[in-house]
Amino acid sequence: MSTGLFISLLNPAIALTLAAAFLLLWLNTRERGYLLLVVIAYAGSATGFLLQHFTLSIGFPATRMLSVGAFMASALCLTVAILARYNRPIPWPAFVVFAVGGFGAFAWFMFVQPDLTWRILSVNFAFGGISLVVAAEIRAVPNRGPIERLLIVLAALSGVNFIVRTVMVVALHGPYAGYEGFYSSLYWTTALLSHAVLSLLIALSLLTAEALDMLRTLRSESLTDPLSSLLNRRGFEAKASAMLDTCRASGLPAALVVADLDRFKALNDSHGHAAGDRVIAEFAARLRSAAGLRAVAGRLGGEEFAVLIPMADPAAARLFAEAVRTVFSAGSIDGLPGHVRVTASFGIAVHSIDETLDDLTRRADEALYHAKRDGRDSIRVSYQRTPEPPPPLEIVQRSA
Ligand code: GH3
Ligand code: MG
Ligand code: MG
Repeated sequence: MSTGLFISLLNPAIALTLAAAFLLLWLNTRERGYLLLVVIAYAGSATGFLLQHFTLSIGFPATRMLSVGAFMASALCLTVAILARYNRPIPWPAFVVFAVGGFGAFAWFMFVQPDLTWRILSVNFAFGGISLVVAAEIRAVPNRGPIERLLIVLAALSGVNFIVRTVMVVALHGPYAGYEGFYSSLYWTTALLSHAVLSLLIALSLLTAEALDMLRTLRSESLTDPLSSLLNRRGFEAKASAMLDTCRASGLPAALVVADLDRFKALNDSHGHAAGDRVIAEFAARLRSAAGLRAVAGRLGGEEFAVLIPMADPAAARLFAEAVRTVFSAGSIDGLPGHVRVTASFGIAVHSIDETLDDLTRRADEALYHAKRDGRDSIRVSYQRTPEPPPPLEIVQRSA
């Protein structure tokens, strides 16, 4: 295989491999429609390159037009896909100007005033313009991370590559009279190599962005309870411990409120498990709306819940629990007879220096136990006992 042919087949081979990789990804996450656009983009790019080397029976000029059309469709699909991924508006007017202008100019210099140099310049300027518009659009993405910054650099580099490299190479070489020696020219070789490198880097960035998204989703799902949409025990412990550390570091109080639905087993037995599930979801919704964005709320398991409220003293925590208790027990639940009222009991402990989340939970659970023992549908607060002073020295000596 000659070096020229090898380099020529490099791009379609890379593009088809990437199209297959993104197709596999899309088949597994169909809700992410932009991945299908990436598949079409890489398939279009492979088609464009193949049509540069294999002339169809429609003739040379028409095959070239098809090739440029495939490149243009590929560029638009890739850029629309990237912008759709980031929920950016698609700058259609700019895209239409570049695409129609580039394609129209290519057709003009193919059929009306045949000139290979101007054909090269017109399509490269169009692709360069599209790349630069995309770089500018990604710059407007909020909360940009390393991947977004990399995509901006790659889009800007593509723009520079299409415009500056082409102008420099054409200036060095002088006008191209025809296709004689064109496919081994500096222009074509640098175009192929730079395209191969940039398209691989863009694909790698998009694949990494997808992998990070999936990891984030999996992590969030592993920390969330699906029935209540609150954090599960693991998620609650992780977030609440971190919040306690922050409160401790800044010397602020924090209160833990634990809650347990009353006589829930009997409710399940009389009205069914599905009704019980609705009660859990309803109680969680009340807890969440009362907790707001500042507090951390979780379902620790079964019908047990916990909320860690930063900057709350016993009075504030009691007020919170009282609000949830009264609103919840006054409301009716879908699917339960109107007269059925479900209640909950609450235990509160306020964080004192040196206490871990486990210590705090133990005290709040003790308070909850008292609320249950004293008749349920109520709130009890655990006040931190001051440690017993050591026995006076003479007593110790006397008993010794
Ligand atoms: P107490 O007032 O003392 O808390 O009594 P209780 O009946 O609420 O407490 P107990 O621990 O005896 O029963 C808890 C029940 O919660 C038992 C279990 O079947 C039910 N439960 C646990 N998880 C779920 C769930 O996800 N959905 C439903 N519907 N029920 C659940
Ligand atoms: Mg219970
Ligand atoms: Mg319980």
